[in-house]
Amino acid sequence: MKYINKKLSIEKVAVENIAKKYKTPTYCYSYRQLKENIRNFKKNFKSFSPLICFSVKSNTNVNLIKEIGKLGLGADVVSMGELMIAIKAGIKPKKIVFSGVGKTSNEIDYAIDKNILLINAESESEIKEIERIAKSKKKKVHVGIRLNPNTDAKTLKQISTGKKENKFGVNEKTFCELVKYCKGSKNIILKCLSVHIGSQILDHRPYEKMLRILDKIINKVNHKFEFIDLGGGMGISYNNNDKKLNYKRYNIAIKKFLKNNKSKIIFEPGRSIIGDTGTLVSKVIYIKKSGRKNFVIINAAMNDFMRPALYGASHKMLPSVKKNTNSKKTYEVVGPICESTDKFTTLKSFQELEENDFIVICDVGAYGMSLSSNYNLRPKPIELLIKGSKIKIIRKRQKHKDLV
Ligand SMILES: *Cc1c(COP(=O)(O)O)cnc(C)c1O
Repeated sequence: MKYINKKLSIEKVAVENIAKKYKTPTYCYSYRQLKENIRNFKKNFKSFSPLICFSVKSNTNVNLIKEIGKLGLGADVVSMGELMIAIKAGIKPKKIVFSGVGKTSNEIDYAIDKNILLINAESESEIKEIERIAKSKKKKVHVGIRLNPNTDAKTLKQISTGKKENKFGVNEKTFCELVKYCKGSKNIILKCLSVHIGSQILDHRPYEKMLRILDKIINKVNHKFEFIDLGGGMGISYNNNDKKLNYKRYNIAIKKFLKNNKSKIIFEPGRSIIGDTGTLVSKVIYIKKSGRKNFVIINAAMNDFMRPALYGASHKMLPSVKKNTNSKKTYEVVGPICESTDKFTTLKSFQELEENDFIVICDVGAYGMSLSSNYNLRPKPIELLIKGSKIKIIRKRQKHKDLV
């Protein structure tokens, strides 16, 4: 995304033209950025060519998943709906892994029928349920066990998943017991050890620590895991002062780990693949002065994009057109929803805004549309895929008549 003749453009299309033609709020994705992210991700770990399973919960648009599949990725899913959409998008079942603490019998049954690569179990009860269903189908099912490595990912507490107080995975003791249990089972084949310590991780050290713990445990249980699934969680720069994850150091740590453990590595990245490909275009409805505050009320709200309200996440915002003015102001950008958390950000010394201006929220590709809702009975936005100067509608705007 850059300014071409003062007009903010996604690839070769000016945001202003998109807003006028398709109305607002509108999600736009850049195909070029997506391709670039996947290329970089592969390049970072090319010496051991991992299986990269896109975390579908970060973006569930079937057309985007199709493109991601064509670029060589598999899928990491956390529900039957996500498994169905991954298959619909043409992802081969042998490239799909299924995670989650609360898979129902129905979901396990479906996953077994589809012959996916791995069901990553997160409790003793789940292992037994998978075994029961596999037995009833006279099948041998490939599973992983998710370990909770009790590692602080040094990220927002709402998106940390690898500490012992989090609900995810099993602790070391249970893990060792379950490995033994699986060895004695006729219907379960233990193929994988999986972990996922959190999201938006920008420090490589928690990953290094996690690998040291894995190494120790694998030694202890003395089981040959065909796959080691390291999860996702790689962070991106939402703000100019965010530091960048050191992929080199992570890669070095994995290579060291692989010297002792000859396994195929699986990754489950979501945000790092799709996060910075997406932009939410919105329009200023009103500007309201209240005491010393200037509220900018835009027509996108927390139902369209929930990360700021849900996690206190901060996202850059940019005007669709750079004006020839030196007048700068401070604005509090809010949506129309009846919640005080329906606030996007505070813009400091921002170019002066007017009603009907277009303004964009950056880096909304991950956990944007997939977390959207119909709260306040607001229809969900349209989604567009931009390729060069081409615009493709990849999901239609919901209409009021769909809701009422
Ligand atoms: C959410 C999730 C991911 C993806 O996390 P990102 O931070 O988007 O890379 C991967 N694996 C599991 C099990 C998850 O729950």
